[in-house]
Amino acid sequence: MRHYLTCLTISLLLLATAATALADTTIIHAGKLLAIPGQAAKSTQTIVVSGERIVKIQDGYADAGEFEGEVSVIDLKNRFVLPGLMDMHVHLQFELGPKNDSETLKMSSQQIEMRSVMYGMRTLLAGFTTVRDAGSRPQEMYALRDGINNGWVDGPRIIAAGGVGITGGHADISGMNPKLMEMFTSENVCDGPYDCRRATRNVIKYGADWIKITSTGGVLSDRATGTGQQMEMDELKEVVLAAKRMGRKVASHAHQEDGILAALEAGVDSIEHGSYAGPESIKLFKKTGAYLVPTLLAGETVLLMAKNSDFMSPAIKDKAIATGAAMKGNFAAAYKAGVKIAYGTDSGVSKHGTNAREAVLMVQAGMPAMDVIKSATVSTADLLDMSSSIGTIEAGKFADIIAVGSSPLDNIEELLDVDFVMKGGKVYKD
Ligand SMILES: [Zn+2]
Repeated sequence: MRHYLTCLTISLLLLATAATALADTTIIHAGKLLAIPGQAAKSTQTIVVSGERIVKIQDGYADAGEFEGEVSVIDLKNRFVLPGLMDMHVHLQFELGPKNDSETLKMSSQQIEMRSVMYGMRTLLAGFTTVRDAGSRPQEMYALRDGINNGWVDGPRIIAAGGVGITGGHADISGMNPKLMEMFTSENVCDGPYDCRRATRNVIKYGADWIKITSTGGVLSDRATGTGQQMEMDELKEVVLAAKRMGRKVASHAHQEDGILAALEAGVDSIEHGSYAGPESIKLFKKTGAYLVPTLLAGETVLLMAKNSDFMSPAIKDKAIATGAAMKGNFAAAYKAGVKIAYGTDSGVSKHGTNAREAVLMVQAGMPAMDVIKSATVSTADLLDMSSSIGTIEAGKFADIIAVGSSPLDNIEELLDVDFVMKGGKVYKD
């Protein structure tokens, strides 16, 4: 026992030493700083970082000599500095292409997981320091999240959404030999309110931070079952209730308006895609305060693939062309009407690391650049209930900081070329 205690004491001492080393100061000289998206950017600022957190922001370029201990200085004097971006809809285990079916058959879960580390890194290096994974193989997704949080591997901060879906619905396996479908059917496929209550509790049990449901059909499921409502009201309500009881929020994939309305009425926190959001859903969005996660990049990607490649089945192609074409206009109307927007790309449909393309599409649809940046920082933090730790560059928050060449407020395409990335005080790209 005594020996054990001694070892423990030594370990604690070592930990304390490591923490002290981390506590040394980094000062960032920012030529332009957009500390709080939505408020004006300031010139000639210093961000003081200690360990993984921001300590303070001060006017002018502070001198290293003003601080005690070891001080490192990062020169971003000719850069535009802003908070790390966030993407509320990624699938880190997957990238859409002609090989998806064979990959499902050939790759082990472990291989898929190893590849997701690479996709995560591409995302982080593109300036996205926090993502919500909106559906992946659960154990592998939770392990990646935990591995990153523990510092075993590098990657973005991951909020992992566990999927709950109905038999034959968008989240269920499709387009395969029946024996294989049986093999790949998730235990979180449910039918009826009580079964969906069970499935919701089950995904929380195994590690989900969020619940992801699919109230309507989806483009990429290989069944001609449309993009309208699929989950029933009693199922939706049970999922939301079971989730809330255990402190989890719910995101619902939804294309047609009937499914958007049903999910909003059931009390979900975000609608993913919202492709056919019309006046009725806009009203309900505003009443419930739910966020719309537009994923315009997914719409554009599937539309182009449907037209220019031949790997999609006819069932998928038809849905891709119709849905892809509807998204942009309805997003613009929802934004103009005051619906809350949280940035999300559905990356995995598009290539990982191109997440900033969504910002370009949002600006093209008529959203001002400042609001786009806000949707990927302040608003996403709010959706995740993490405003006290991420979303802006302010004292006490994680030092999630990126920089680009010049102001993305003048040219949103600057976000396509992020050349400095710090997450939790650690520099990943300089
Ligand atoms: Zn998705």
